[in-house]
Amino acid sequence: ANTTAGQLRSPICCILGHVDTGKTKLLDKIRHTDVQGGEAGGITQQIGATFFPIASIQEQTRKLRRAEEKVKYEIPGLLIIDTPGHESFTNLRSRGSSLCNMAILVVDLMHGIEAQTEESMRLLAMRHTPFVIALNKIDRIYGWKPSPWAPFSETYAKQTDEVKTLFRAKYQEVVTSFAEKGYNVCIHTENKDTNTFISMVPTSAITGEGIPDLLMYLIAMTQRTLRDDISLINELTATVLEVKVIQGLGTTVDVVLSNGILREGDTIVVCGLNGPITTQIRALLTPQPCRELRVKSQYTQHREILAAMGVKISAQGLENAVAGSPLHVAYEPEEVEFLQELVSQDLESAMSNFERAEAGVCVQSSTIGSLEALLAYLKSAKVPVSGVSIGPIYKKDVVRASVMLERQQEYATILGFDVQVDPEAQRLADEMGVRIFTAAIIYHLTDMFSKYINDVRE
Ligand code: GDP
Ligand code: MG
Repeated sequence: ANTTAGQLRSPICCILGHVDTGKTKLLDKIRHTDVQGGEAGGITQQIGATFFPIASIQEQTRKLRRAEEKVKYEIPGLLIIDTPGHESFTNLRSRGSSLCNMAILVVDLMHGIEAQTEESMRLLAMRHTPFVIALNKIDRIYGWKPSPWAPFSETYAKQTDEVKTLFRAKYQEVVTSFAEKGYNVCIHTENKDTNTFISMVPTSAITGEGIPDLLMYLIAMTQRTLRDDISLINELTATVLEVKVIQGLGTTVDVVLSNGILREGDTIVVCGLNGPITTQIRALLTPQPCRELRVKSQYTQHREILAAMGVKISAQGLENAVAGSPLHVAYEPEEVEFLQELVSQDLESAMSNFERAEAGVCVQSSTIGSLEALLAYLKSAKVPVSGVSIGPIYKKDVVRASVMLERQQEYATILGFDVQVDPEAQRLADEMGVRIFTAAIIYHLTDMFSKYINDVRE
């Protein structure tokens, strides 16, 4: 692919970590809005992408620039993707293409490493994704005196000796627990060797302290070490994150455009539940800058959009589009057939890429990525799987699962992750004795199933 000389696109950064560490709140704080407060239970169940134009980042890092080395801002902005736990991160793996260039791993200073922290680290290591740790909730240190939006070293210098001692103790606990997992981490201001040590930036999503450091770190890291990854390439890389019905627009797809350009009227080919979908882009929409894609707001319409960006596409025939799959553009009519073939293979390989057991449960998921994540989980939990599919649970799925009634009754079960159950299907399942478990969080599903298995086997 030919590179536009020297030009860098906006890097894509994923924010991940254990539940309640403050991922959404951190983004809210950077955005100066309140998504977290509007969410049911505060847990993010949807994927959100926020584009931060470089001007807003400059604004927030200004204080730091006086004190530290002058970094030249070359990237046009930063696209940050919030994830509900790790499931969506797996979903965002974007199947081969590198959707995320880097990540922020959020750790609660008071809790240290938690279950999903480890899970996230495993995923990051698997994909060799560079990351920085946000050691969040420093304001919870007893006696902490906040200096809103201050760089960390500035606010730290103002704390009393007692508070400093308390902070150091907590900080040391975290360093030790990371060391036990085989990771060298240290505070970012003391990191002299970024090849050996992962930087940890102390932050507070409530007071904004340390956020200038975090943003500055992300900018410096991408511009220094990820130049090749974010050089503007003409080739298109785009991934469907979500399929949504929007009043007045019909079915739309939310897409992360990692590379290249999308234009109004482009012929797109995406993976559909019942085969490839080929359609024309009717409208290319983005939320206002510094607003999140999943929050209702005024959309801006574009003739064309340059990577990286979270984009909503309105087009006909998107009803059965599969979230988690790549989106292609056919520039010439002759390309359509080839691309259709490509997306079909993609879905097939995702659906066949597991060990099919003679006796096992059926699993069903909302997206290709979440299906993969679910299958990986079930594999590690040693739950055999006999069939998979994507999309809502219908009668035919119940019939398929019912085959197990004869073989091994407890496997006449459908595990549905983030999917709807058709009422007819539920009725049939009840009649036949097929169990359907659904959940919006993968480990809840595996928990439910292992409890059920234990009950049955007792
Ligand atoms: P997520 O699950 O990682 O997205 O976490 P949330 O952003 O939903 O935050 C979980 C809870 O922790 C909320 O009640 C937040 O208000 C709180 N919280 C997040 N960050 C901070 C912080 O820096 N300091 C304090 N004191 N509370 C925080
Ligand atoms: Mg959240």
